[in-house]
Amino acid sequence: MSARVLVVDDILANVRLLEAKLESEYFEVSTAMNGLDALEKVQRIRPDIVLLDVMMPGMDGIEVCRRIKSNPATRHIPVVMVTALDQPEDRVRGLEAGADDFLTKPVNDVALFSRVKSLVRLKMLIDELLSRNSNEDGMLLADDLMETEDAGRPGKILLIDDQTQLAARVRKALGKHHQVDFCADPAQALHKVEEEDYELLMVNLDMEDYDGLRLCSQLRSLSHNRQVPILIIIDPDDTQRMARALELGVNDYLMRPIDRQELLARVNTQIRRWRYTCRLRDSVRQSIALAVTDPLTGLYNRRYMTTHGEALVDEAANRGKALSLLLLDLDYFKKVNDTHGHDVGDRVLKELAQRMKRQVRRLDIVCRVGGEEFVILLPNAEISVAWRIAERLREAIASTPFDVGEKPGELQLNLTTSIGLAGYEKVTDSLDSILKRADEALYKAKEGGRNKVMVADAA
Ligand code: GH3
Ligand code: MG
Ligand code: MG
Repeated sequence: MSARVLVVDDILANVRLLEAKLESEYFEVSTAMNGLDALEKVQRIRPDIVLLDVMMPGMDGIEVCRRIKSNPATRHIPVVMVTALDQPEDRVRGLEAGADDFLTKPVNDVALFSRVKSLVRLKMLIDELLSRNSNEDGMLLADDLMETEDAGRPGKILLIDDQTQLAARVRKALGKHHQVDFCADPAQALHKVEEEDYELLMVNLDMEDYDGLRLCSQLRSLSHNRQVPILIIIDPDDTQRMARALELGVNDYLMRPIDRQELLARVNTQIRRWRYTCRLRDSVRQSIALAVTDPLTGLYNRRYMTTHGEALVDEAANRGKALSLLLLDLDYFKKVNDTHGHDVGDRVLKELAQRMKRQVRRLDIVCRVGGEEFVILLPNAEISVAWRIAERLREAIASTPFDVGEKPGELQLNLTTSIGLAGYEKVTDSLDSILKRADEALYKAKEGGRNKVMVADAA
């Protein structure tokens, strides 16, 4: 992972040390040695993360953090406060100023890289979300995305431990902000995770009767929810198992004795990141869905028909699979619009879409390719099979009137369709050539009196 890191500290040796560590992991490092310099660089460089010393002469780290977090243009940049071990109250002040995480000096490598990477990943997700959702009001939208929706909504956490002391402590620290469920049986916990939508799993790595690492690996191989963040609790000297856990895909760790502020900060970061991930995934799904569907009927659009149809033609050519195609057009549809208005026409199209979907097989692809023109791709269907489906569809349309008034029963229309049928025949065939034959067949169906299925002539 490459990312821009801004390291801020008034002592040159500290700056150089962090810079060297981060550069050895291929981060791009900028440095600042006082608060004002730091703010200027945050504005100009737009780093992916800021490591911020608390104690600096002039403007201290807490104030720098507060200013970064109160500026809408920079508030989504993660800030990690670097505090002295003997100054726990700095952590509280840092949190209050909006800091995302802490590191204590002297900074340990595993802690540094796991935290920086975790927060940078989060930042990149946010960047991605913002780029998808930005317009001239991008800033407002950013705030909506980041603050409003999630603000105050309690996270749903599952703590897994075969002893109970930890649960009591965790509940005490998080109970006001989050819902913490407790499960003492790891096997049962696996079920719970599959069944319920947890947003964070906390695992005691040092359970008495169960191997915590094994549990983490099992959680990561579930069929549902396998990406849910995992936070482990571990002894400070157990570095080997901690490294194993991070390799297994554990997201973060907390060392004993557990510091309440630190616990809350880490839990919040993981939950926030999980929510962004989910939202990003949904927004990607949604934009994919929008790109390939027709808004009126919910059927696939022409673009999808073309892409998918071409792939099916390739498959027919290379793997000898059958492929048929129906081109369907409503009869005298213009009259419906002229007599009853466009809204009624639209309702006809919607009802028609439903009927088509009901009559075809699950693998068939129904597309609206024009105003009242539809294509149905029928993979693995010989002409004879496709003909039966087409006849069934024609019948389903002609036999039952369309109920298309404003209220049910108010207006019933008898409608029919004409259908042209063609299939893949030989290697020189393309989607276009098949569509063209289907179009000729459709023309014949119209000429022959409508309410008909016509099979195309051989190519
Ligand atoms: P034919 O039996 O020869 O197919 O006659 P037709 O009247 O169905 O054919 P024509 O192609 O002349 O008319 C199609 C009409 O479809 C014209 C247009 O007003 C209507 N149309 C196209 N898209 C939409 C739409 O989205 N909503 C509505 N309500 N009407 C549409
Ligand atoms: Mg200092
Ligand atoms: Mg028509």
